[in-house]
Amino acid sequence: MKKNTYKLYSLGCKVNQYDAGKLGSALSLGNLKETKENAEYAIVYTCSVTHSAVTKNRRMITKAKKENPKAKIILAGCWPRVSEIDSEKLGVDFILDTKDHSTLEEFILGTSHSYSHDSDLSQQTRSRYFIKVQDGCEQFCSYCIIPYTRGGLSSRKREDVLLEIKKAVQEGYREIVLSGIHLGLYGHDSEYKLIDLINDILEIKDLGRIRLSSIEINEVSDELIELIKKEKKICNHLHIPLQSGCDKILKLMNRPYRLEDFKNKVYDLRSKIPDIAITTDVIVGFPGEEDGDLLETYEFCQAMQFSKIHVFSFSAHERTPAYSMPGQVDVKVIKQRSKKLRDLSENLEKKYRDRFKKRSLECILEAIGNNKARLKTEYYFDRFARAEKFKKSDIGKIFEN
Ligand code: SF4
Repeated sequence: MKKNTYKLYSLGCKVNQYDAGKLGSALSLGNLKETKENAEYAIVYTCSVTHSAVTKNRRMITKAKKENPKAKIILAGCWPRVSEIDSEKLGVDFILDTKDHSTLEEFILGTSHSYSHDSDLSQQTRSRYFIKVQDGCEQFCSYCIIPYTRGGLSSRKREDVLLEIKKAVQEGYREIVLSGIHLGLYGHDSEYKLIDLINDILEIKDLGRIRLSSIEINEVSDELIELIKKEKKICNHLHIPLQSGCDKILKLMNRPYRLEDFKNKVYDLRSKIPDIAITTDVIVGFPGEEDGDLLETYEFCQAMQFSKIHVFSFSAHERTPAYSMPGQVDVKVIKQRSKKLRDLSENLEKKYRDRFKKRSLECILEAIGNNKARLKTEYYFDRFARAEKFKKSDIGKIFEN
């Protein structure tokens, strides 16, 4: 075992990965070194968003033990916040309170001193910098465990966010992705709103571009649309979760809009920013969903011309209302329906990409493989180029392609 080393295993959404990265950078500041195996501490940053996420957590713990046989196993993230964890049975040495990382410092360093690294960078392996500016949600969609795991709405301080972004820009990150659990409600309890934050970020010297990770349809304001239209540094891309294209299911999901609202906003967006990429999430197999409801969803997605659909098979956590709703859909049926929507997504993605075929676009180099390099456009789709055109040190830089 390598003394004073750690290995981080993170699962789940980008916000969770961001939190894990923050923990990683704090540990490095505390003079622990990250290592690939045989670490002294193996930290598994868990997710609990669906039933299958919990299975993945267990698998990850097994993997962590295998790769670090003598390590102290530390469990963090959403799972321990909503479920009773039998540490002994799982072979876990310490459960970390996700909202207060100082307990881990105490566990590792044996001291209890202040642990405030709020503006430090989160360790990230990506070429684009994801920053969490907001946490928590109070919407209580009937399938979602997040309000139970992450609690109520909270927003990070303007100064901390701006300082962290300045550092990320200085480090060479060319794209900053603003993330949150309910991003559109940044500043819900203050006069300083998301739009103000974006305006302040745009003032940062040498900023490449910014992207919003996800926003609810009700929070796409006229002001935001105008700002995206006007500001070249804001990516022409919005990820707006639809979840279902059937009003009956939206109601059961406790989603705060109906298809008419969604459609009108998308038409408005497209009338002002015709090329904007609109990506979405759809959950398939929600309790009570019948073939006809799926067909409605299919047709609605087609009409909205999304540029990508992330299709999720329903698999709710047992603490959510949807878990015990009547009309649970058979797993096989969910698979078939999901395939149908994924096929639709492929067609829509291609159609959208083709629109830019003859246009050269600003792209961020994301990865270089054996033969190909992958670049991310502001419209969220990827472009590929010959690998030999780039060096490893070009990852994260902007190129015309
Ligand atoms: S809006 Fe709904 S789906 Fe999104 S985090 Fe909140 S409860 Fe979950």
